[in-house]
Amino acid sequence: MVRENEIRENEVQITPPEPTDAGLTFIGRISTPWTSRMETPRQGRHDGPLCRIEIYEPWVPALKGVENFERLEILYWLHQSRRDLVLQSPASNGKIHGTFSLRSPVRPNPIGTSIVKLEGVDGHVLLVRGLDCLDGTPLIDLKPDRTLFKPIAPPQPGDFQTDENLPCA
Ligand code: SAM
Repeated sequence: MVRENEIRENEVQITPPEPTDAGLTFIGRISTPWTSRMETPRQGRHDGPLCRIEIYEPWVPALKGVENFERLEILYWLHQSRRDLVLQSPASNGKIHGTFSLRSPVRPNPIGTSIVKLEGVDGHVLLVRGLDCLDGTPLIDLKPDRTLFKPIAPPQPGDFQTDENLPCA
């Protein structure tokens, strides 16, 4: 069941610590067909509706090269989410799950991620399929799908280190 902001049977709410200012900047805005959480897909699909990602200045030049990737990873801020549940009942049936074992939008820092199919780039606007967020959701970041990306910078020593030659402390 999709929630607005209600708490369900057996869910556990905490009082979150004071926020730390991470200096987060919204770099754009996502336009989708969905204005209600009750209608928004739980996960986007690559044959889903075309959505627009508008990039704000001064970040537009940072789009150079994105057109070379068939798929992008999009990070967005699920701005209407509550942030104070540690145990949740996604099915509203009293069965609970830890927040970090879910992809629920309700989390301490409500970051959503989707791998989208890039359909086009029109100046400062990306046209994509595969999103699952409300119209007007703020954009945090975008980057190539990691399965398509080969590092451009030369390798570093850590790239060759295995657990055998450098176990974690
Ligand atoms: N794909 C992302 C992920 O896995 O990180 C998000 C998945 S989350 C389950 C998607 C749901 O978040 C939607 O079905 C909707 O109920 C909710 N949602 C979407 N946009 C939101 C927003 N801007 N604020 C709060 N909730 C939102």
